[in-house]
Amino acid sequence: MKDSFYRILSRFFFPTGGFGFLVVLLLLLMLLLSGIFVYGLGGTQSAYVHIFYVSVILGGMCFGLAGGLGSGVLAGLMAGPFMPMIVDPYTPQPLYSWATRLGFFVLIGGLSGLGASVLKDFLNKQRIRLQQDTITRLLNFRGLREKSLQYNQAGQVISIVFIEIHHLRHIDGAIGTELTSALFKQIAERLTALVAESSTIGRLETGGFVLLCPSLKKAQHALEICKNFLGDSFVVGDIPVFTEFHFGLAEAENRQEDFSATLRKAKIASVQSRELQKVSSVFDHRQEDKIKRGVFITHGIRKALEREELQLFYQPKVSLLTGEIIGVEALVRWPHPELGMIPPGEFIPVIEKTLLINPYTSWLLRSALKEKAKWMSSKIDMTFSLNFSMKNFLDPGVLSLLETLIDQHGLNPREIEIEVTETAVAGNIRKVADVLHSLREKGIRIAVDDFGTGQSSLHYLFELPIDALKIDQVFVRSMATNSAAEAIVRSAILLAKELNLDVTAEGVEKKEEIALLKKMGCHVGQGYYFARPMPASLAKEWITAHPRITL
Ligand code: C2E
Ligand code: CA
Ligand code: CA
Repeated sequence: MKDSFYRILSRFFFPTGGFGFLVVLLLLLMLLLSGIFVYGLGGTQSAYVHIFYVSVILGGMCFGLAGGLGSGVLAGLMAGPFMPMIVDPYTPQPLYSWATRLGFFVLIGGLSGLGASVLKDFLNKQRIRLQQDTITRLLNFRGLREKSLQYNQAGQVISIVFIEIHHLRHIDGAIGTELTSALFKQIAERLTALVAESSTIGRLETGGFVLLCPSLKKAQHALEICKNFLGDSFVVGDIPVFTEFHFGLAEAENRQEDFSATLRKAKIASVQSRELQKVSSVFDHRQEDKIKRGVFITHGIRKALEREELQLFYQPKVSLLTGEIIGVEALVRWPHPELGMIPPGEFIPVIEKTLLINPYTSWLLRSALKEKAKWMSSKIDMTFSLNFSMKNFLDPGVLSLLETLIDQHGLNPREIEIEVTETAVAGNIRKVADVLHSLREKGIRIAVDDFGTGQSSLHYLFELPIDALKIDQVFVRSMATNSAAEAIVRSAILLAKELNLDVTAEGVEKKEEIALLKKMGCHVGQGYYFARPMPASLAKEWITAHPRITL
């Protein structure tokens, strides 16, 4: 509302083209009406003759010095020789009277015109500055948006190429802010030399360059030129800087689409090209859905935790020696009213990256151990395995909470197992080892999850106190057809034997796999062949109905 008011105001005071002609007509009309008004109210003798100043000043404000002088002369003549001093009885004005007034009108018109020109000049410079990126002097977001409106007004549908500098933060960290600014300037110069003809170039203060084009064809052309000729090496302050660019292209749906909406799509496309390690990518709606889902999850997970909306599913683990169910693994899910059942892979990383990890660990322990106590009172005694990433161990309350819950529910610590998954642990391995030692002293079992993947698995065996290995499902799934996978599974089982550890194969889906695992001496199997993860009540029913599985 405020914006459109200023827009109309600025069109009036900065009239151009056809609109300028309209403003001239309006001013002439005002002058004429002022004349009729003064005449109608009895002639120039009344104070109403000052009404002419309005048109005179507006004339100056809208059309500068010439406009001010012109409207001053016209007003002076209009209120001059043809206008009587008194209408009835008709008394004409003396020459000196109307000529002096004409002089004043011209003076005021001229001054208003001069003042307005200076002010407009200042405002114009200010406007240009506000629309420019301070480092490169290219257009900034505001400037680009303004330009896109101009394209739209000319009937064009815009397209945007967003250019992201890969690892910008690292570059900035390595060469410093000043040289990074110099790098931006060089990139700006290269872009200007390459594509200034086909596109409007801009830089966003939040990072990234933008090519704004009046058509998709031009944007595609500009993109191709940049991909081929923008290059990847720059020299700033004698330092060679190697930069990689990711390009994202998006076309507005129509002329009404807001500039920032199209820019967002182009940014999404550039993220996509970064993730897929491609140079460029064109926006499509599936990318948007994926990102929206990510945003939804990131924003919703805190509330879900507070409202205890997360749910644990349980997947049975089967002894490959006897066919008995010897335990269950608790796997978290988030039943979302709109997105359906969200698997842990989509929200656990979000939890781990934030302080939510502590309330999550606490929720996980409370829910799983409460369930374990319920099963115990139904005479179902088996190991409950919980997934912990390294981040869980950093919660200082985790040990005492476990202890309290075990006491509170009267549980056997040997029936609680922690499956440790590897996430960026390097710096914290000593601290994690300390916590694991304390857990083990209390009798809790420790298993290394996803064994065989990542780089630290062998390192873990050596650094951490461990009771069991879980061979990653990637190898189990492929072992029947891939001799390398088979060799890995076989060696993991042998290694477990050597180290006196229990060994579980996860992801068992076929009967043949069981035979092979048994032959290799694997103790425990877990996978869809036996059962999928189920809600607690179903898992309990399933286990009661399947006391022993025929292998
Ligand atoms: P994981 O610990 O390796 O869990 C096994 C995953 O494989 C589960 O996926 C399970 O549903 C799936 N799975 C089991 N049997 C089969 C099979 O035969 N075939 C196939 N294709 N998949 C099978 P889910 O539930 O999606 O969990 C994924 C990962 O999320 C888990 O991998 C675990 O690393 C993590 N996770 C789950 N719950 C938690 C938790 O409470 N805390 C932490 N930190 N991570 C968790
Ligand atoms: Ca696991
Ligand atoms: Ca696993």
